[in-house]
Amino acid sequence: MTIRAVYADNNATTRVAAEVLEAMLPFFKEQFGNPSSMHYLAKPAEQAITKAREQVACLLYADPSEIVFTSCGTESDNAAIRGVLSALPHKKHIITTRVEHPAVRNVCQYLGKNGYRVTELSVDKMGQIDLDELRETLDDDTALVSIMWANNETGVIFPVREIADMVKSRGALLHCDAVQAAGKLPIDLRVVNVDLLSISGHKLHAPKGIGVLYIRKGTYFSPLMIGGHQEKGRRAGTENVPYIVGLGKACELAFEHMEEEQTRVKALRDRLEKELLEKALDASVNGDPANRLPNTTSISFKYIEGEAILLMLSAEGIAASSGSACTSGSLEPSHVLRAMGVPFTRVHGSIRFSLSRYNSDEDITYIVEKMVPTARRLREISPFGRDELYAAK
Ligand code: PLP
Repeated sequence: MTIRAVYADNNATTRVAAEVLEAMLPFFKEQFGNPSSMHYLAKPAEQAITKAREQVACLLYADPSEIVFTSCGTESDNAAIRGVLSALPHKKHIITTRVEHPAVRNVCQYLGKNGYRVTELSVDKMGQIDLDELRETLDDDTALVSIMWANNETGVIFPVREIADMVKSRGALLHCDAVQAAGKLPIDLRVVNVDLLSISGHKLHAPKGIGVLYIRKGTYFSPLMIGGHQEKGRRAGTENVPYIVGLGKACELAFEHMEEEQTRVKALRDRLEKELLEKALDASVNGDPANRLPNTTSISFKYIEGEAILLMLSAEGIAASSGSACTSGSLEPSHVLRAMGVPFTRVHGSIRFSLSRYNSDEDITYIVEKMVPTARRLREISPFGRDELYAAK
């Protein structure tokens, strides 16, 4: 079999859809105007932003006036958390979870060292929070709860609707990091009562460097970026017109492809998971099987190093991710898998495959074909794995 290029790292970033790039190009060329100008080039830019705002709002069942364009998911998360806290200066308690992305977790930890009380909710071995723990933790001093819609590593989906009802009944605000959920799951903000919600363009086939912060009408919010009057004073800075147009188009496409995500992409993920569990020795899936993103699987291969697997897969043209982050020369095991209590021997050998509508059945066949001997070879050279392998023979 020849080497294929199989991209299975879509939770890290996605390819820009051809239709998205095509929609963006005129705004780099002839339509390069600043929407705030007084001359003839302003109008097309302004109209394009209005259209993009409607396309994003449509994906979320929101009102276009509630959509604020930002530079990325990280900015949206920062703006949401800090924006609510500075608008509610008398409240000093934040609730979040132990499995948030650093764009939320590190902001909350920073605030914890700077005058705020921060509660990080734990998760069980399936990666789920306990709603009773949330209920007990909410108090009159709670300004904000920041909880993700779906986890970037395991794909585990939190019960956001129930969380929202609970948080609102205690008079706190709810921010939801929906960076991984948007475009993969239906999000209906008419029925899910979150106050603020973050999206990132590059996770749904728009470019890197564009995001959205949804702010429900009437929400207490002070802007992070102060300057001009753009985005109705909620985010200053000349609008990134081509990228905004691209994100709008990507949201429209995501809406159209939503069913495919739930059926075809999910079937590919399920097949990949099933075949790897059957064929690769001692593999197990991390996260709540009943409540997961349709495109994501986190699989632990006992006793082997995720980084070694990734490098060997990469040499075969397969792109995936591991459950460790290589920070300053040391391999930090995933905080998400650790919070779930995944044993050390499995955390280090965890691989995340995240698919998209651009993946095919042949991609899955190829991954399985390469992954099974890779796991076996690495197990053979692992001092612990080898013993177990021989015992199993
Ligand atoms: N939140 C989650 C859940 C993510 O997965 C990511 C990116 O991986 C972010 C936030 C940050 O988004 P961005 O890369 O656009 O800053």
